[in-house]
Amino acid sequence: MSSSDRPSTDAGTSARMSRQRRRDTAPELALRRELHRRGLRFFVDRAPLPGMRRRADLLFPRRKVAVYVDGCFWHRCPLHATAPKNNAQWWADKLEANVRRDRDTDAALTAAGWTVVRVWEHEDVPGAADRVEHVVTGSESG
Ligand SMILES: [Zn+2]
Repeated sequence: MSSSDRPSTDAGTSARMSRQRRRDTAPELALRRELHRRGLRFFVDRAPLPGMRRRADLLFPRRKVAVYVDGCFWHRCPLHATAPKNNAQWWADKLEANVRRDRDTDAALTAAGWTVVRVWEHEDVPGAADRVEHVVTGSESG
């Protein structure tokens, strides 16, 4: 529990701008810790598909499971998405592009036989870990 300086509203916008691709965010670390505690082993920040630059936050190559921890702001969480008032159109376009890229990523991975698990940064860690664990350890249906 070292970093508690999570940006909340307008004050955090500039901080967010300066580091869009946030690595090792608190929600990500918490999920990793929890999954590790449950005995799951995975790669961090790896690209699932050759030629696709978008990296997954967690990767289970053998199970072909890619996990993304999506920030509520950048990925437009339905509960917490906010729209900056300054440069509103620019932000709208940018955030929309982010979401579109997410869906593109999902489609590409699914087409290649991967399972995509997306976790919102606001989700409680045990619940999110349950979802990931279920997908990774669950037997394949069919
Ligand atoms: Zn949220």
